[in-house]
Amino acid sequence: MIVSVASGKGGTGKTTVSASLTTIWGRPIVAVDLDVEEPNLHLFLHPAMEGNETAYIKIPVVDESKCTYCGACSDLCQFKAISVVNQLVMTFPEMCHGCGGCMAICPEKAISEGRRELGEISWGSAGSAGFLMGRLRVGEAMSPPLMRQVKARLNAMAAGGSRDVIIDAPPGVSCPAVNAVIDSDVIILVTEPTPFGLYDFQLAWEAFCPLGKPMGAVVNRAGVGNDQIYHFCQDKGLPILAQIPFDRAIAEAYARGRIITEVSSDIERIFIDLKEGIRHLAERRSSKEAAHA
Ligand code: SF4
Ligand code: SF4
Repeated sequence: MIVSVASGKGGTGKTTVSASLTTIWGRPIVAVDLDVEEPNLHLFLHPAMEGNETAYIKIPVVDESKCTYCGACSDLCQFKAISVVNQLVMTFPEMCHGCGGCMAICPEKAISEGRRELGEISWGSAGSAGFLMGRLRVGEAMSPPLMRQVKARLNAMAAGGSRDVIIDAPPGVSCPAVNAVIDSDVIILVTEPTPFGLYDFQLAWEAFCPLGKPMGAVVNRAGVGNDQIYHFCQDKGLPILAQIPFDRAIAEAYARGRIITEVSSDIERIFIDLKEGIRHLAERRSSKEAAHA
């Protein structure tokens, strides 16, 4: 089972939920930080790192001595990353998505493969859990290609599905966030009961609904704000799987980089119940799929 923990905005407690779920999961699991622009799951899980590698994206390198300026590469590229103007071929590596299309289509074989550094992929273990994270190079804007490479490594670590996976997804509803959750069996949306929280939560719900995945909500800092988030969930039939109270001891644990399930047995219970709620959502989906098969 793959569980993504997402949120419409940063600062809702998404990583806290991911880390806490990892520690109480009770089955073989890999925790993955796909928030590659600002990974921080490791600050809570304190994994022992075992390896890392630099991630690259392939980019075109044009040999103009072979080029006839036919424009086929420029016509093909959807991202305007290669352009032919008069007798000049220009490449814009920072806009290249590394699809390789221009290299394949060039009739003169004038384009070879170069590479540009995207960031770093690191892995290790946090107790009995596997741990994996990507970190985008400072100044790099292209996170989906790095996320794809992290996921490729995840497939090996998840050992053909024999280990469950918890993904700490990037906040927001842009392309990287959708990319992170797209292979999930269940999506958990973390929010807080404030007007800002509701606004971003609605955006997230609207962005992820078309994916057709089972979704559930976690209300963090329950007790502040108002009850609009609860009305929204009720209207949309979105189950609230957990409410984490607004509590000084939790805030202190968070500030010290501790897992909040350590705060008290009541908080631990919240996460054990959350895990059960996630399992029920996944099972309901499996039985629906079986009924339609
Ligand atoms: S497709 Fe090849 S030959 Fe044509 S413009 Fe591009 S690099 Fe030159
Ligand atoms: S590799 Fe793909 S994205 Fe990059 S320049 Fe070529 S066609 Fe465009």
